Amino acid sequence: MDDLKFGTRDKRGNWTPHKPLEIAPFWTGKFSSMGAWLVGYIWPHNTIFMAVTLAYWFLVLPDFEVMKTFSWDWMLWLHAVNSAGIFLLYGSVELFYYVKRKQGTRFKYNHKFPAENPSDVFWFKSQNIDNFLRTFLISIPLWTLVESAVLWAFANGYGIWLSPEDHWLWLVVLVFLAPAIHEVHFFCIHWLIHQGALYRHIHSVHHNSINPSPWSSMSMHPVEATLFFAEMAWHLLIPSNPLVALFQLTSTAYGAIVGHIGFDKLEITEGQAMDSHAYTHYLHHKYFEVNYGGDGVIPLDKWFGTWHDGTKDADERMKERFRKKKERANARKAGQIAAE
Ligand SMILES: [Zn+2]
Ligand SMILES: [Zn+2]
Repeated sequence: MDDLKFGTRDKRGNWTPHKPLEIAPFWTGKFSSMGAWLVGYIWPHNTIFMAVTLAYWFLVLPDFEVMKTFSWDWMLWLHAVNSAGIFLLYGSVELFYYVKRKQGTRFKYNHKFPAENPSDVFWFKSQNIDNFLRTFLISIPLWTLVESAVLWAFANGYGIWLSPEDHWLWLVVLVFLAPAIHEVHFFCIHWLIHQGALYRHIHSVHHNSINPSPWSSMSMHPVEATLFFAEMAWHLLIPSNPLVALFQLTSTAYGAIVGHIGFDKLEITEGQAMDSHAYTHYLHHKYFEVNYGGDGVIPLDKWFGTWHDGTKDADERMKERFRKKKERANARKAGQIAAE
């Protein structure tokens, strides 16, 4: 596919989409684009996450009677399935687009591939090895622990377990709200770990990958990983159902790859490509202090002035914000020195 029909490439080879990022149309009054937005909201990402959730529900989860007590048997089984699922999903994107490079750098935001840039910040100087090991040694075990704890809580009668027969409408609404819950939860924890010492000690691990690739998705400090997956626990506080809670967690875990794909579109056939929805979070990795949340279902970044839609105007606004921040910090420093 000709990616220059959809964007531009600079002298270094970095590709930028023509179309600015847009928050959900119901916030901007663009009701004419509601239909297209809704299709993109459902298909393909959330449909795939629901299919994975149903596969877990029917094929993987043991009986809730069994999950009333913690045991290595079912928890290790869950862990094996989680690990295999991530290995298959993230691994196949890595294999086709980063190892075989079947699409070259078409639609790729950063023309370089992480394997070309060894760096001391990574274990074994390799972003790929570092990110892969952190995913499998730290993040997936913590995901399994959070998942097991919430399922154990449901099995033991904590939380308000609504039956689908009596409350199907609310549960359907809740499934549609799950991506919005994710955005709010993720924005809050993410903004928090960008502050001061929390950033230096915790979140900087994830940001070592300035040019993210699939294995970067879950490359996190243990504290960040725990906060990230704890999103599932909201379903113990709101009237819900373990299936919806599982959808929340599955979309968080498998969906973490979305922002780290590095390509704007993934070519499926000669003339067909799938939107990756990766640009919002790619810009976050590039500029750090923009786009803490997601695609703007709940546009917290817009409301707090940290939204970057990829345009030159947004660039200028961001630079202005950084300049003011620096001025404030300098003024504070000057005040401290004067007081001493
Ligand atoms: Zn990231
Ligand atoms: Zn961040």
